[in-house]
Amino acid sequence: MLMEVPFSDTPPVATLNTTRVLSLDAAGRILDWISWQDAVCLYVRGAVAWTLGDACLTVHGGQSRASGLQSTLDLHPIVASTGHCREHAIDPAPALTNTALFARDRHICLYCGNQYNRHDLTRDHVLPLSKKGADEWENVVSACLACNLRKGSRTPAQANMPLLAVPYRPSWVEHLILSNRNILADQMEFLVNHLPKNRRRA
Ligand SMILES: [Zn+2]
Repeated sequence: MLMEVPFSDTPPVATLNTTRVLSLDAAGRILDWISWQDAVCLYVRGAVAWTLGDACLTVHGGQSRASGLQSTLDLHPIVASTGHCREHAIDPAPALTNTALFARDRHICLYCGNQYNRHDLTRDHVLPLSKKGADEWENVVSACLACNLRKGSRTPAQANMPLLAVPYRPSWVEHLILSNRNILADQMEFLVNHLPKNRRRA
């Protein structure tokens, strides 16, 4: 299944409440989203190795006693930090949560093809748990309640309910794209360039 990269015509405007900073290690490997507070800590600790993109957020600090001026710090959308590389940097499996699963399947029931809001979706085990199916990315799909009930504890073949797409484990980069609704243009460009080639949208 091709991943739908949530591009929009109007890129989100960076605000402190919604913006997350994309953190990399010094070698440029993608780590995770971090909050602006965590990003400020990196800057203050002098742990920023390099940044990408134009400054997107300005954080106002305290007032200087000497000058009376308020300190400000400009944050960049992508920040590489010094220090140890984490194991984590090498494409870890994203945790299988319903939120992440429904995002992978774009909130579409993979049996009937209709789109639902998350409260009307369920996690269906393609090979049912009762038949020793695993609770893992490659064996779970989003299903509406009606389809899930209809399928019951049968396989898609037994239930004559073919799957509309093959379930897969999202890469870490896909997970980062799917898990943030407020990705800035610089961040999206960087992430899309790190997607597995067969999952980039034409
Ligand atoms: Zn359905």
